[in-house]
Amino acid sequence: MNLEWGAASHTGQVRTNNQDSAVAEPGLFAVADGMGGHAAGEVASQVAIEALRSDAPTLGIVEAVRAANRAVIDRAGDDPALRGMGTTVCALSPIDGRVVLVNVGDSRGYLFRDGELSQITADHNLVAELERDGHISAEEARVHPQRNIITRVLGNDLDLEVDTFEVDPFRGDRFLLCSDGLFNEVDDEAIARLLRTERDPQRVADDLVRMANEAGGRDNITVVVVDVADDDDRSRTASAALAGAVATSTARPVRRVEPDTTEAHPASVDERALERRARRVTWRSTLFVLAVLLVLGVAVSAVWYVSRNTYFVGVDGDEIVIFRGKPGGVLWIDPTLEEGTGVDLGEIPAANRSAVEDGREYGDIDDARAYVERLHRRWQQQEERRSTLGTTTTTTSTPTTSTTTSPPAP
Ligand code: MN
Repeated sequence: MNLEWGAASHTGQVRTNNQDSAVAEPGLFAVADGMGGHAAGEVASQVAIEALRSDAPTLGIVEAVRAANRAVIDRAGDDPALRGMGTTVCALSPIDGRVVLVNVGDSRGYLFRDGELSQITADHNLVAELERDGHISAEEARVHPQRNIITRVLGNDLDLEVDTFEVDPFRGDRFLLCSDGLFNEVDDEAIARLLRTERDPQRVADDLVRMANEAGGRDNITVVVVDVADDDDRSRTASAALAGAVATSTARPVRRVEPDTTEAHPASVDERALERRARRVTWRSTLFVLAVLLVLGVAVSAVWYVSRNTYFVGVDGDEIVIFRGKPGGVLWIDPTLEEGTGVDLGEIPAANRSAVEDGREYGDIDDARAYVERLHRRWQQQEERRSTLGTTTTTTSTPTTSTTTSPPAP
């Protein structure tokens, strides 16, 4: 698996310090949104990111989040000024050809696939939980005054529950990790539009930060974009399987590894994503087949048109005739006899006979007719001259060719 990435972080337009932290390096991508008075939030997110960096390679990403949780709690215990600090963590790590996402808090992990953006992680905040449990609508949740109340963070409890998601990556997939400073300012559709048009992940990260700032920048903004540049041919295999409408299970894109039983997070999200992808791939295959048929149709029509609008002068028996088509035919389209000329091969100048026998092409039947008439007339003139000269030779004479010397080009 080959990944390409970009990352950006900004204080925003209102806050005086940036309490977000991030990491984007081979094997580990994460954003952390710290909270706590004064510099505490900054410290919490930095401690968490540093712990992830040092522990993820040996412990794995899930245990590294737990280690980061302990590190934040330890650090807060050391310094009274840091009491009560906490941080979110949303991290991504490629493991054994799969992409593993972990999440605690209300930062988000998104997957952009086949032109569509979908949130993989579940927000750990009060309003999102009320919405998931069906107590309030999505519209009510969007404007709820308590939507900043976080229900799960690092730094609060040694017994930390970590959400884990596994994704089978496909070439072209784009993962987006971000703090709430992005998605509270820029809606998903605007994010998706940018992901559709901007190829470079670093430019995506920079542009998203700029968009959030332009929309108000009321919070710190942090964005990490991870592109799957190569998936070890997985997408080709899966597409082939799906096009055959057989092995839908091989393309199961998102698997929630540790379903959180305390949440009403719909388990059917994965299946719906799978169905959507299967439908999309089937639809794409259909489009592809239609496009191929269309191209073939156009090519065949072009060949047909060209071959049916070409004439050539040839010979049928002794008679000079006009054929429609190309000498020898094109593909399966053989030339057809269009009309006779009433002129025999012996009734044109001998010098032109081999050219006629080889077939002389014309785009217009009138030109072909005129050619034959011209040759026939020339032959008649030769014959008249011969009879006035008293010559009896008819077929062996070769007309004299006049050679002209053209002056050298200036
Ligand atoms: Mn924030």
